[in-house]
Amino acid sequence: MVKNSAIIDGVLAEFEPLTRIPRPSGHEKAVSDYLKKYLTDAGFTVVQDKVNNIIADKPATPGYEQAPRTILQGHMDMVCVAEEGVKFDPQHDAIKLHRTDEYLEAVGTSLGGDDGIGVAIGSYIMKHAREHGPLRLIVTVDEERGMTGSINLDGKYVKDAQFLINCDSENYDELTVGSAGSVHIDFSRKFTRVPAEGKQAWQLSLKGLKGGHSGERIGDGRGNAIRTLAQLLQGLEKQGHVELASFTGGKAPNAIPDAAAATFVTDMSCADLQAVIKAEKERFLTIYGGVDPEITLELTALKETSASVLQADDTNRLLTLLTVLHTGVYAMSTVIPGLIETSANLGVLQMDEDEVRVQFFPRSAIDAKLDEFVAMAGELAELTGFTLHASDKAPGWKENKNSRLAKIMAETFEEQNGKPMKVETIHAGLECGYHFMRNPQLDMVSIGVTTVDIHSPNEKVMLATIEPQVKLIETTLQKIAKLK
Ligand SMILES: [Zn+2]
Repeated sequence: MVKNSAIIDGVLAEFEPLTRIPRPSGHEKAVSDYLKKYLTDAGFTVVQDKVNNIIADKPATPGYEQAPRTILQGHMDMVCVAEEGVKFDPQHDAIKLHRTDEYLEAVGTSLGGDDGIGVAIGSYIMKHAREHGPLRLIVTVDEERGMTGSINLDGKYVKDAQFLINCDSENYDELTVGSAGSVHIDFSRKFTRVPAEGKQAWQLSLKGLKGGHSGERIGDGRGNAIRTLAQLLQGLEKQGHVELASFTGGKAPNAIPDAAAATFVTDMSCADLQAVIKAEKERFLTIYGGVDPEITLELTALKETSASVLQADDTNRLLTLLTVLHTGVYAMSTVIPGLIETSANLGVLQMDEDEVRVQFFPRSAIDAKLDEFVAMAGELAELTGFTLHASDKAPGWKENKNSRLAKIMAETFEEQNGKPMKVETIHAGLECGYHFMRNPQLDMVSIGVTTVDIHSPNEKVMLATIEPQVKLIETTLQKIAKLK
């Protein structure tokens, strides 16, 4: 049971209007207009830039005009997902809130606590903090989809500040001090379909893997559905002639694929097919069974023979690419024990009538390792006859061992909560990477209230963590104002 608290009520009063304005990534105009008016009415100097980022400035409280500027930063967009069977139009419908003793959650949909609560805390602090140097709130758009808000943010807004507190993390007792960079790599290949020679068409679906966010879960030893099914198809190829008609899997480049499916034509008997599938499943369980025991492989005979299939050469090239491409952890950090330094995720496989496309997503704390991946992918594309497209790199945020901000915050947290804060660098990406790229001198941390199951209909905010978070930021601002 959470005590009634003016701070909790105050922060929720900032958050509640955000839940009434639909704000999926890429559709932030309305919420951006709301924030512009709201923060202007509150007395701040507000800029709405060309991509709808909001930058609000508040002068120092009297006597602290000489103190360094601190930025509070969050993002206004959210991941909109609904429970199966719930009617929800993310571009038009409001979020329905439900408050229990312990949590704030939404009815049937994601809550948007990520990062609406971060934004609410930012505006609450702007209005209520009593002792601070110059303060700026930056609320970006489109963090969840492509970080285009941060990409397009004018560098001048982070160059005249000394400290930045990003409010987009998920545990109130964790202090993030570094994050990974990444690059989107796409392989594509055109092919011509030919009539199948074999008689019987089959569908083979692989399901039941855990999947998960590739920045957070890539080190857990989970299976990759696309890779596993590609290996299985190669296994079938060794036993008899298999003509591939379709092969798809995965949902997003940054999600470990939990399912994949293929259809193919062959004259192999059902028993022979099942024998290979059984052997492949056993092989999978030997490697991944400890973490991913729920794998299912379902073979279904199709009534109609698929009229057209890929030529054998196209199939071989695709299966080679999918089985050789590195997926999973690539290297551990030599500087921070236990941190994954570099990983890659074979994330999505799409196939239509005449083209196949593979999305591959490496992450690394070291920018040069991303270049290495792009080069390796280029060689592999050439060997397998695919066309390669690599995006610009999303920059990493390198930990600053001498961060004054991290020291102040960790000390303050311990004073206020009687336990140490966990300080860590993460393998996922944060907008801080772009701020760091523009101003490597900027001293940053990322924090957040405890939020459970983000990006899912079960998302909820732990109410008891709001007050300690607000107090942590307010005291930190006070200490910064008094820095010599
Ligand atoms: Zn977020």
